[in-house]
Amino acid sequence: MMQAQISFPNLSFPDFKGRILFDVPMKDYISIKIGGPADVMVFPKDADDLIAILKFASNKGFPVFVMGSGTNLLVRDNGIRGIVINLSDDFHEIVWTGDDKVTAGAGVRLMELANLCRDKGLSGLEFAVGIPGAIGGSVFMNAGAYGGEMKDVVEKIEAVDIKGQTHTFDKASLKFSYRKCELPADMIITKAYLRLQKGSPDEIKKRMKECKDKRKATRAINLSNAGSIFKNPQGSSAGMLIEESGLKGVKIGGAQISEAHGNYIVNLGNASARDVLALIAIARDKIFKIKGILLETEIKVIGED
Ligand SMILES: Cc1cc2nc3c(=O)[nH]c(=O)nc-3n(C[C@H](O)[C@H](O)[C@H](O)COP(=O)(O)OP(=O)(O)OC[C@H]3O[C@@H](n4cnc5c(N)ncnc54)[C@H](O)[C@@H]3O)c2cc1C
Repeated sequence: MMQAQISFPNLSFPDFKGRILFDVPMKDYISIKIGGPADVMVFPKDADDLIAILKFASNKGFPVFVMGSGTNLLVRDNGIRGIVINLSDDFHEIVWTGDDKVTAGAGVRLMELANLCRDKGLSGLEFAVGIPGAIGGSVFMNAGAYGGEMKDVVEKIEAVDIKGQTHTFDKASLKFSYRKCELPADMIITKAYLRLQKGSPDEIKKRMKECKDKRKATRAINLSNAGSIFKNPQGSSAGMLIEESGLKGVKIGGAQISEAHGNYIVNLGNASARDVLALIAIARDKIFKIKGILLETEIKVIGED
């Protein structure tokens, strides 16, 4: 059932330092450029702002959704009821500790951090070349590629719960697995503590170039997308299964299964979330019928139809 739009007649935060926007088209904030409006989007400037907005939402019973760079999201066409907390404006602090450790705010771009590590001769994030997310989303998704993933470098994280309480979770308690971790529900990651390994900048550069070269097929995609739609089933590749089933290039409305890579759906310009979801259903059904494999989505689908 569609929920009523939330209005904020008495929304006043004298001490809030960040931005607050109303009736915000989500398509402007996510990489596939699809999605109806969010009632409210806030960009907290720091942990105090974040805690203030969480306490407000919790007191009023308003739903909250946190996003980073929006590169792994599909927002449905009627948008999001409640408050979207967008950490991409701030939470950009990077602190180097000791020879091989770094603490990075949730809003830091993973690729920016990977490049800084390369320059400092720190190895471990080479896999991140070409992954456009921010640290918070990348830890939450256990982002990875070509044999590397966030779990290899994360030591612990700090997070804030819906009541504004701060918590620390070490790597073991996060129970990382393929493209996920077991962060308790409604927890917002504010920073991650990473441990890297000392290495030669030239070797690191070489490995980054190798990772970049392996991305040839997806780098050629110049239309808006959300990265891989499906997780790879064990021992197989979702992209290959979709290609073998003859679905590359199939279009519905303004969305198309990429001609360059079967596991990408591109927005040809005016795609709706319904178009993308219909393509997802077609691919899932066909692969199940032909191969007996049930594909699981990697992207997070949120919001209302
Ligand atoms: C062209 C392209 C290539 C990509 N290649 C790869 C790849 O090779 N490997 C890979 O793993 N991914 C890939 N991705 C997907 C995506 O970049 C990663 O999953 C990314 O790390 C997600 O980060 P984000 O900041 O964009 O998260 P978002 O998309 O904003 O959010 C993703 C999920 O994380 C949650 N989240 C975000 N921030 C926080 C936070 N601070 N605290 C708690 N939860 C949070 C959100 O609620 C949501 O459930 C690709 C995407 C694109 C568009």
